[in-house]
Amino acid sequence: MAQVHALKTNAAGSVYANLGLSQQQMSLIESVAELAQERFAPRAARYDETAVFPGQDFDDLFEASLHAPAVPREYGGLGLGPYRGDVFTLWMMTKEIAKADLSLARCWEGHVNSLVLLDGLATEPQKARWFKGVVQDGDKWVAWSGEPQNRAPGEAASFGTTTEAVDSGYIVDGTKAFCTSAGGANWALLLVNTAGPGGARHATASHEGLLLLACDLSDPSISVESMWWNPIGMRATVSHVVRFDRTHIPAANLVGTPGAYISEGWQTCFIPHYAASFLGAAEAAFEYAMAHIMSQHKEGDPYIQQRIAKMAIDVETAHLWLRHVATMWETGSHDEARIAGSRARHLIEHLAEDVVRHAIRACGARSLNKPSPLERIYRDLSFYVRHDNDDHILAMIGKSMLGQSHDPSFYKP
Ligand SMILES: Cc1cc2nc3c(=O)[nH]c(=O)nc-3n(C[C@H](O)[C@H](O)[C@H](O)COP(=O)(O)OP(=O)(O)OC[C@H]3O[C@@H](n4cnc5c(N)ncnc54)[C@H](O)[C@@H]3O)c2cc1C
Repeated sequence: MAQVHALKTNAAGSVYANLGLSQQQMSLIESVAELAQERFAPRAARYDETAVFPGQDFDDLFEASLHAPAVPREYGGLGLGPYRGDVFTLWMMTKEIAKADLSLARCWEGHVNSLVLLDGLATEPQKARWFKGVVQDGDKWVAWSGEPQNRAPGEAASFGTTTEAVDSGYIVDGTKAFCTSAGGANWALLLVNTAGPGGARHATASHEGLLLLACDLSDPSISVESMWWNPIGMRATVSHVVRFDRTHIPAANLVGTPGAYISEGWQTCFIPHYAASFLGAAEAAFEYAMAHIMSQHKEGDPYIQQRIAKMAIDVETAHLWLRHVATMWETGSHDEARIAGSRARHLIEHLAEDVVRHAIRACGARSLNKPSPLERIYRDLSFYVRHDNDDHILAMIGKSMLGQSHDPSFYKP
């Protein structure tokens, strides 16, 4: 029991013991874990119920100087990231946040992934300008592609933007859906295509026209349409529809060269980051189940013992996979890491759902009665794993094994 119980503890526990983290890395993760458990977890149910952006949580991260993890040290950040020699610490920070609130973790990922993109693709003057805003003012970033091209049944309008080059920059017109942190973020990296709608994920046109445009979200031409977003879970990500009414983006806000997002494989940096969030949800479900079972003195039940064993193995396996992929990024095996991240993401989706299923079985119906955290985790996870289609992920992995052409970013068939 002592060993399993140690798994339930956070950064100081045995779950991190053999993952190659230094004392300094552990204490960074521990700082996030403390904030997450003491402040974010108690707020999660209210943010979920009211579908409100978790702004206070971001304020706390900023006050604790944890808000700029992927900003390079020379610009005042923590200098973490896939191309900075330490991505595992970053993923474990995210995992601790996801343990408290999976919606918050999605907003955080959007922010952090945008910082990774700026670090990798922006010019020095752009970095100086935007990283200052993050480090000194607590600016929150997000990246928005979402332009599904087929209407779902009952959906009144379709989504999509057009992007026109003008002398002074670009005019973006139309709508995007799944805009995480809408109304909460200050800046968005818009993934738009001069060849037509579809963003990055749903575009049929060549990726050569795909641009990353840094968009100041206080521009009066931008509005949030909040009626569309009413999902089963991940409610506090406020991933609303956002309308751009001929929004002007200055030429100085073009980040990187057209098409670089796909040709340089940037999405593959973020795929295992989603898995770190799934793992956080799973670990929270496991801890909930442990506490529930112990409080009801059901430790002696052999079926419960088996479910606890399965959960512990699932959580540990997911950690090992993330460590494995992180090592590839950190040691320069980037081509390998790009596909291995999808293998990890595929597996961890299933491990996480397995943990939640075992937790529900072990704890019973009342664990799905609000305000049980397990009820929220169940809803959030079932929705969040839809971010990518697991069938297509698996097909992409198979194609990569068979030497066939494949899309490691968005798994397009
Ligand atoms: C909580 C949450 C937050 C998100 N936040 C963001 C964000 O901040 N930024 C952002 O850019 N995106 C974000 N996304 C959007 C996400 O990345 C997808 O764009 C979105 O999930 C697509 O919606 P869909 O699955 O309903 O539609 P579709 O993409 O239409 O997919 C529906 C189904 O059809 C399948 N499918 C799609 N195309 C084909 C095809 N050609 N052939 C066969 N099958 C196909 C899909 O795999 C899927 O199973 C978020 C998603 C979620 C769930």
